[in-house]
Amino acid sequence: MDFIKEILNGVEELIKFDTVVIGAGASGLMFASFNRDKNIAIIEGNSQIAQKIKISGGGKCNITNKSVSFKNYLGDGEFIKSVLASFTNTELLEFLKKRGLEPVLRDKYQYFCKNSSNEIIDIFQKEIKDIPIFLNHKVMRVSKKDNFYIKTDKGNFEAKKVIVASGGLSYPKIGATPIAYEIAESFGHNIIKTTPALVGFTVQKEQFWMKELSGISTTIKIRVGEKKFNGELLFTHKGLSGPAILNTSV
Ligand SMILES: Cc1cc2nc3c(=O)[nH]c(=O)nc-3n(C[C@H](O)[C@H](O)[C@H](O)COP(=O)(O)OP(=O)(O)OC[C@H]3O[C@@H](n4cnc5c(N)ncnc54)[C@H](O)[C@@H]3O)c2cc1C
Repeated sequence: MDFIKEILNGVEELIKFDTVVIGAGASGLMFASFNRDKNIAIIEGNSQIAQKIKISGGGKCNITNKSVSFKNYLGDGEFIKSVLASFTNTELLEFLKKRGLEPVLRDKYQYFCKNSSNEIIDIFQKEIKDIPIFLNHKVMRVSKKDNFYIKTDKGNFEAKKVIVASGGLSYPKIGATPIAYEIAESFGHNIIKTTPALVGFTVQKEQFWMKELSGISTTIKIRVGEKKFNGELLFTHKGLSGPAILNTSV
């Protein structure tokens, strides 16, 4: 039997909120921070919030950039412009400053946490402290009949609004799932096949010696064809990674 029918027939118990946010990552936490006075809840598959923020920017989270332009994004320029204008980099820096975080500028343009991504995660922890958060709850499906019904592996929810903030596909090890694509598809949207964009380089037999350097990072200048980058290189157990290397992979 369809899970909505089971729910509406009272076979399954329901936890009700006005708004349910799926995902306690950067987007879901920002939404929750701005709507904490409402009747909302967050559902998160991991045992902790913000796992991707934690590893972002080499553990220091590259929060924003001094120069943010629609030209740096693929897609519908006008739509991207309106999204970027609705909450600017300056507004984000103000939001953080008011909460005691002054990011440091690296390479003239990039804002990072001073010591660790935990500085920004701590802000979100405080912002959402009064919001019910259901950790270790993996969303399996969302359906709609008047209200939305959210099925998780630990119980079901009903909400008037659902915010899908479950992120993309990168890094399944820290909780990424395809649920956003599955929900969009189940509501009739077309999905464009995804492919990895920024990837590290794996080394071949002749360069296996590099594996011994795994964990070491250094600043480099790199040129691939016409592209030139300055930045960090990280030796990994598979080969080369870090921002400069990832940039050359696009
Ligand atoms: C290694 C790495 C480094 C990065 N560094 C930077 C950086 O320095 N600066 C930057 O701006 N961006 C960086 N990014 C990109 C950045 O992480 C993403 O743009 C950002 O995290 C997206 O936020 P989000 O809220 O959309 O998704 P996420 O942060 O991925 O959050 C989604 C949340 O939803 C949860 N979730 C997923 N599926 C389910 C489900 N079925 N049920 C319940 N919960 C679910 C996940 O556990 C996760 O907590 C980096 C990405 C990677 C992989």
